[in-house]
Amino acid sequence: MDKERESSPSTNRKRDALENESMTVARRSEKFWFDDGSVVLQVESVQYRVHRSILASYSPVFNDLFRVPQPEGDRSGWVDGCPTVCMAGDTTRDWESVLGFIYKPSSLALKWPDVGRLAGMMRLGKKYQIDDIFAEALARLRAQFPRTLAARDAMTAGGNMELCEWISKYFQVITRLGEEMGLWSILPVAYYMAASYEENIPSFILYYRNLSPNSMRSVAHGTAAIWDDVVSRSFRWTKPTELTIPTISCASKPKCTAARTLALAEVCAKVGKQDAGIALDVWKRGAGCEFCAECLRAAQTACEGGRAYIWDHLARYFLGDNWEKLEDTKSDVLPAIWRPR
Ligand SMILES: [Zn+2]
Repeated sequence: MDKERESSPSTNRKRDALENESMTVARRSEKFWFDDGSVVLQVESVQYRVHRSILASYSPVFNDLFRVPQPEGDRSGWVDGCPTVCMAGDTTRDWESVLGFIYKPSSLALKWPDVGRLAGMMRLGKKYQIDDIFAEALARLRAQFPRTLAARDAMTAGGNMELCEWISKYFQVITRLGEEMGLWSILPVAYYMAASYEENIPSFILYYRNLSPNSMRSVAHGTAAIWDDVVSRSFRWTKPTELTIPTISCASKPKCTAARTLALAEVCAKVGKQDAGIALDVWKRGAGCEFCAECLRAAQTACEGGRAYIWDHLARYFLGDNWEKLEDTKSDVLPAIWRPR
């Protein structure tokens, strides 16, 4: 008897499965299944019972879709009294990003947000014309990429570890999203930060194995170009052949000459290790590197000048265009460095 009772629903389920395979293999989302929901979205094999009115208020695509009258009497494919819409080609990850933002916007961190979620919001935001969600994700992503050196310094005032770790964690997602959406101007800082966080370029390449060929080309080209300006601009004053330090009126020339030699050794060590952080970090003297006040000022001025120059040229090093050009370049036009030559 027991066996019969057990087998009966199972047989029914098999029959249902034959009638509609996609419906029976689907499972209900635990996070987004609302008892008062009025439509079931099926994405891959997960079903979300959500609200038509809310989706329609965000997206003209859904608004139009829900206005199409349902054929009378045909309720095949309905789940729990709700019509089901299959979202072909979408992923559950992207939909959960969008639904998470719609139903609980506070779950998306303001600072150092999950870029995977931002990517989902932008992808579906674009596909279904959910402009508010696309714009929100874009604004949050851009907020992590300062446009001026002063803004970057303010952002990294307590050290740049948080920015480094955030970029390192999401680097491949950021570059994929940047390339997919044509967000060219976020890429130079991402390339620079990821490359400077790794010990050297070979270890960078080994670590980010799934980087696109375009991004790989940008990092290789950009880091090589940066070194030229680090040596010839920011730290040119450390060379014995330069006449910047000791300054003409320096009162302790032997001491300042010794400090300059020490600074040169430190720069050489960083160049040798390909520690690209030296390009945009504020210069800090090593222990024992003692200059008189005047020579220190001259060295700091040279370093700051070099740092500002490198920041201004960051877009050119990595993508071959200047910042303004990158901002204006349309998403379907590739940056100069990626164009076929
Ligand atoms: Zn001096």
